[in-house]
Amino acid sequence: MTDLLLTGVRAWGFGPAPTDIAVSAGRIAAIGADLPRDGAEVVDGIGCLALPGLVDAHAHIDKTLWGTPWHPHQAGPTLIDKIDNERRVLNTLGLSAEVQSARLLRHMVARGTTHVRTHVDIGPDVGLSHFHGIQAMREAHREWIDVEVVAFPQTGVMIRPGTLDLLEQAVREGAEVVGGLDPVGVDRDPKGQLDGIFAIADRHGCGVDIHLHDRGDLGAVTIDMIVERTRALGLKGKVAISHAFCLGMLDRPRLDGLLDDLVELDIAIMTHAPSGPTPFPPIRLLHDRGVRLFSGSDGVRDTWGPLNTGDMLERAFLLAYRSGFRHDPDIEIALRMATYGGAQVMGAAGYGLAVGAAADLVLVEAETAAEAVAFHPVRRLVLKRGRVAARDGRATMPAAA
Ligand SMILES: [Zn+2]
Repeated sequence: MTDLLLTGVRAWGFGPAPTDIAVSAGRIAAIGADLPRDGAEVVDGIGCLALPGLVDAHAHIDKTLWGTPWHPHQAGPTLIDKIDNERRVLNTLGLSAEVQSARLLRHMVARGTTHVRTHVDIGPDVGLSHFHGIQAMREAHREWIDVEVVAFPQTGVMIRPGTLDLLEQAVREGAEVVGGLDPVGVDRDPKGQLDGIFAIADRHGCGVDIHLHDRGDLGAVTIDMIVERTRALGLKGKVAISHAFCLGMLDRPRLDGLLDDLVELDIAIMTHAPSGPTPFPPIRLLHDRGVRLFSGSDGVRDTWGPLNTGDMLERAFLLAYRSGFRHDPDIEIALRMATYGGAQVMGAAGYGLAVGAAADLVLVEAETAAEAVAFHPVRRLVLKRGRVAARDGRATMPAAA
């Protein structure tokens, strides 16, 4: 029996002709013309494009200032300045990771996001408090959004004794991925940090996702060391590198060698197309070489910067914009990073716009995927497992208790 029937939509990947999408028991039951109404609730989707749920696979929802008064940016220019400033501001404001993350998630759902991988701060200063807040929040929102947690050492690993034990404790308690942070730039001890976090992944079978802002050769050598450990421990397909600015700075022979390694070991690269003059990976080249690519909002309205909005269609626009994409197939690479790419990295079961997949769907007024990226219009309808989570840009799911 059909529960919901979307009529007259264009479905991404199914050609330009309007089609119907039938949803039953939380799944896509059929995609085709003139499907039987079968007593179902009918949504007129004429003029709309159907996309799979958007995937924000690099976020920091535990420390957003979303829903609080506007906070003018105060941090200095370096990474360490930003970390120190964040600690100061969060200590002063005394916000709850559980409350703040719930506020931001609701907004993300309204923008069509159905899956989030979030890096959650863990370290000797905050212990596991942010992690426990996120665990409670994700349990409360389980029906409406899939949240994957990375245990993230925001203040460093080897320079903060006790951090490795806390990361491992978080993995024991349910974090799916262990994170890292500039093993050279922050820790000055790449062997120590990488051996430590890869040992956690080896012991627990979890994924690895490392923030790597270090530029040029420092970043490239760090990738070499990540590659060595991924190969030695048989972690093919379980490792990601976030930002990897250095990939946008290397000479071609050095870059080619690294890309060969990334493809061989299926190490995924996340970029959110950073602002300003910051270098970032050449998306089109990496895509053509077969590197797995994904994207995310990174920090949304937090002490790192005020401009991110948590909208993954807008993020795809920014990826395309900064990459100089104009042709539809190139723009669709950016959209795939914000959908299928992130879903694959998260191991999201049953994801996609296909019969049998979970009915995690977004309707937008657009003719094609490239137009949806170019204009990132209001999300007309957002479905999570077949249930309406948002309409016309507003979340309609119940507020968490
Ligand atoms: Zn990040």
